[in-house]
Amino acid sequence: MNNEMKIRAAKLLHHRKKTLQKGDPVSPPLVTATTYHLPDIQEAPFLYGRNSTPTISTLESQLSMLENAPTVAFSSGMAAISAALFAVLKSGGKLILPSDGYYVTRRLAHEFLATFGVDVIEIPTLSFENADFTQVDVVYIETPSNPGLDLVDITAISQRAHDAGAKVIVDNTTMTAFLQRPLDLGADLVVCADTKAPGGHSDALLGHVSGYDNALMARVSDWRRLSGSVPGGLEAWLVHRGIDTLELRLSRMCDNAEVIAQRLANHPKTLNIRYPGLASDAAHQIATRQMDRFGFLIGLTLASEKSAEIFLSRCDMLSQATSFGSVHTSAERRARWGDEVDPGFVRLSIGIEPVEALWTAISDAL
Ligand SMILES: *Cc1c(COP(=O)(O)O)cnc(C)c1O
Repeated sequence: MNNEMKIRAAKLLHHRKKTLQKGDPVSPPLVTATTYHLPDIQEAPFLYGRNSTPTISTLESQLSMLENAPTVAFSSGMAAISAALFAVLKSGGKLILPSDGYYVTRRLAHEFLATFGVDVIEIPTLSFENADFTQVDVVYIETPSNPGLDLVDITAISQRAHDAGAKVIVDNTTMTAFLQRPLDLGADLVVCADTKAPGGHSDALLGHVSGYDNALMARVSDWRRLSGSVPGGLEAWLVHRGIDTLELRLSRMCDNAEVIAQRLANHPKTLNIRYPGLASDAAHQIATRQMDRFGFLIGLTLASEKSAEIFLSRCDMLSQATSFGSVHTSAERRARWGDEVDPGFVRLSIGIEPVEALWTAISDAL
């Protein structure tokens, strides 16, 4: 991680200091109150729980520091993605999104945005590089794509999208701001499912939207209040706690993933490994340019559906779950959800286990 991000990680652990009065709790209180004492409404910091609460506001200060940009928190990653898309798109508008991207975002676009008159176009992540953005309103990027782990150059795409008058939204869930900062590379909005690595313990749904454009962020914030997609107090509190250790966890997860990807690549039972940190990976060049580290997701192809399922059930240190970014290493065969991948393709999300114990479990199962 670069030096600036190390300083940011350190500052994040002390972000509440300036707001504390003598006797205040050092860790943020969990406030679940929906109503606030309002003898009059002038300059009241909190009005009603759907607008915000002290716990949400504390989390947003922390997230704004992490992203180095104004940030609004939502009840889930999808709630954040909905806010970003509904904030920018209008009837008659045109949206380009990756056909190999997060499935739920694509369904939202086709089943709701399209019925409101938005032209929804899906193209593979690798085709963004040469796609025509004329008349496009939103270019929506996920890099690395999930689960295929293809990459696109955010700077180049943002430049071309802006030349065509389009806004750029990047789903940065697989990376987080510690590993990749789309706003610095030209994106207009970044969205993240904090349900994954930022929460980090598979026990809270939450998401956020960040951006420098005040008018856009005001729409994002209105969307939350009007649609009611505000995070719960407990979730905001859990994610705040999660982010205290995010840099530490990511650093172990990336260290582990680098070792495991290399060893898997040399293993006789594997047909193919995708990991942007491998010098042989098709995405390695772009990865070195725009990512601080190569992340914790590995694409592993085994001989068949059967060998993949046996591997998953045999390994004691893989939780068989969908989702990723938790402290526990987890894995699943993505074709079971209909992703267009090889039947033997497994997405591995590497956790924080000490690496030799983890590798022993993985290689024994292989
Ligand atoms: C999980 C995920 C989301 C959605 O997050 P939820 O909190 O489950 O709504 C969006 N984008 C990506 C890339 C994800 O992995």
